[in-house]
Amino acid sequence: MAHSHDVLVIGGGAAGLMCALSAGRLGKRVLVLEHANRVGKKILMSGGGRCNFTNTGATPANYLSANPHYCKSALARYTPADFIELVDRHRIAWHEKELGQLFCDDSSKQIVKMLVDQCAAAGARIETGCQVERVQHVDGGGFRLHTSHGSFSAASLVVACGGLSIPSMGASGYGYELARQFGHRVLPTRAGLVPLTLTGKHQENLQDLSGVALPVEARCRDMYFRNFMLLTHRGISGPAILQISSYWQPGDDLRLDLLPGSDALERLQELQRARPAAEFRNALAELLPKRFAQRLCEVWLAHLRPQRPLRQFNLPELKQVASLLQNWPLVASGTEGYRTAEVTLGGVDTDELSSSTMQSKKVPGLYFIGEVVDVSGWLGGYNFQWAWASGHAAGNAA
Ligand SMILES: Cc1cc2nc3c(=O)[nH]c(=O)nc-3n(C[C@H](O)[C@H](O)[C@H](O)COP(=O)(O)OP(=O)(O)OC[C@H]3O[C@@H](n4cnc5c(N)ncnc54)[C@H](O)[C@@H]3O)c2cc1C
Repeated sequence: MAHSHDVLVIGGGAAGLMCALSAGRLGKRVLVLEHANRVGKKILMSGGGRCNFTNTGATPANYLSANPHYCKSALARYTPADFIELVDRHRIAWHEKELGQLFCDDSSKQIVKMLVDQCAAAGARIETGCQVERVQHVDGGGFRLHTSHGSFSAASLVVACGGLSIPSMGASGYGYELARQFGHRVLPTRAGLVPLTLTGKHQENLQDLSGVALPVEARCRDMYFRNFMLLTHRGISGPAILQISSYWQPGDDLRLDLLPGSDALERLQELQRARPAAEFRNALAELLPKRFAQRLCEVWLAHLRPQRPLRQFNLPELKQVASLLQNWPLVASGTEGYRTAEVTLGGVDTDELSSSTMQSKKVPGLYFIGEVVDVSGWLGGYNFQWAWASGHAAGNAA
């Protein structure tokens, strides 16, 4: 016999738990089925263990989706202030790091505990270590699930299985599989918020600089992000690169401004006035990390004979250097993939979902929320805000 509920939620991550507590508060009988041995594993590892749980500046413009309008309704109805209010009520201390990013002072465990406590208070049950084997749509409405913990039925089924990023944390493609089973289109998925890899000459020229970090403005496809870049053994990372990686596609031109926010020619001319006798290759280290400046001189500026004193550089030469510093071209060969990606781009096509309830337009009672949907946020708390907002929308509708 199947145990009957009002709402079954597959996936006990950020979106699933928010959905469960929202539906539970409305008096619904809710059961969360989680295949891992505990819920909220990604929350636990997020933000370096301190969970960047929202961004106070979150707007629809901070999300990638084939339909950029889809996320608007849910984000407007559950805002960062709503989540902050919940966090404050649970006396979880937090701070703003930069750019509206809010982190726990102490530990992301507090966020998971808060969500689990809220589920318990709302009467929503959680089954961990539960493998869903089969999902059936029942004639006349509703769903029946066959799992390793028995059979369950409900009028509403919420798919909150997340994306493909970090398989070792419980990620699976099950949400996409279910979407296809019910006739939904799944847009091609790819890794986002992920380090980019370099090969060939670019890698040879930079790999021994692994660990060097510098502020840049990374540009690709009319998008730009100003923040730090970190050189790694395999390529480039750091917040500016992770952000631009969600827009970068193989073959795309990637450009880096190595002196973001300043006029490179002016800075070089100032340097020339201040240190006319200094060798150019040494003086450049006043504008950039020393080893990086040296490598630029050895590889990208060798034709300008950077061992010359600065006073010997004429205006056209300084302009050449300025142009390179403001528009440094880098050819990425790929990304590090789902193993290290923070998010999965693409997913369940939003055209077939209601933007106010997250409900399927094809199968009544079926909902998709969180990262499994084709909505992906920037780095900085935006992805959790989408998980909370979409979970809240479905939880109130299911
Ligand atoms: C290392 C890392 C750090 C991050 N840091 C941040 C951050 O600080 N701020 C931010 O906003 N975002 C961050 N993110 C992104 C954020 O974690 C995700 O966008 C968010 O967790 C998505 O919520 P979700 O509920 O859709 O998916 P998830 O939180 O991934 O939850 C999906 C759940 O479904 C379960 N599941 C999967 N398949 C099945 C199945 N077949 N049966 C049952 N259960 C299943 C999974 O085990 C998991 O518990 C980070 C991501 C990573 C990988």
